[in-house]
Amino acid sequence: MMLQLSGVHAHYGSIHALHGVDVAVQVGEVVTLIGANGAGKSTLMMSIFGQPRASAGRVVFDGEDITALPTHEIARRGIALVPEGRRIFPRMTVLENLQMGAVLGEEMNFAVDLKRMYSLFPILEERCTQSAGTLSGGEQQMLAIARALMSRPQLLLLDEPSLGLAPLYIKKIFQIIRELNREHGMTILLVEQNAHHALRVAHRGYVLQHGQIILSGTGSELLASPEVRAAYLEGA
Ligand code: ATP
Repeated sequence: MMLQLSGVHAHYGSIHALHGVDVAVQVGEVVTLIGANGAGKSTLMMSIFGQPRASAGRVVFDGEDITALPTHEIARRGIALVPEGRRIFPRMTVLENLQMGAVLGEEMNFAVDLKRMYSLFPILEERCTQSAGTLSGGEQQMLAIARALMSRPQLLLLDEPSLGLAPLYIKKIFQIIRELNREHGMTILLVEQNAHHALRVAHRGYVLQHGQIILSGTGSELLASPEVRAAYLEGA
């Protein structure tokens, strides 16, 4: 087991956002969390990083209890996050953004990693001297993913990577997720409102509602579930 959340609760002041969630991610899996706006998906993902810190329950990564570790220590253990809204550095060039991602890398071999990113995302090589803020939304998302990968994580957390992208880029982002997993063996935890795409790419998924897991199963089980279809796949 790579990651295990057991009975995790999380609060923002008096708001009780997670009510004892159990989520597991095994080595080599793509696992997705789906659910409506405000269900607690981002909170769950961020609680892995201790932001907010679990107020009860445990987060175990690679056999180690990381619940109480500072965020930078959690990142050092090999978890990389691509946050919602991407948060690239808009005034820096594409290359400088990638350099920022490599800072955490332990046995950093920047040239090798950069080459690998450019082969995964050829557009980033074409745009390497351009300010990141001038990239399209889809290209910025690719840069955010590439930046996270520069730290050579064992586990990649993606928060709503398809949000706000044009349909062509949505397709491309899900292709990249599939390729990263199937061809590069990357383990991925994916938060998505785009349940249809997410469940197709994921081995397993969890449905979150009001801070609780109400359903879990393989991607195809959840795609076929009448409950999921009614609530999250209408019109998809
Ligand atoms: P979305 O898709 O809109 O991001 P989500 O499923 O990721 O939704 P969360 O963002 O995790 O949901 O929010 C869960 C609950 O916690 C909501 O009620 C939200 O209003 C609340 N919440 C989230 N972030 C904060 C914060 N920084 N301060 C206070 N309350 C918050």
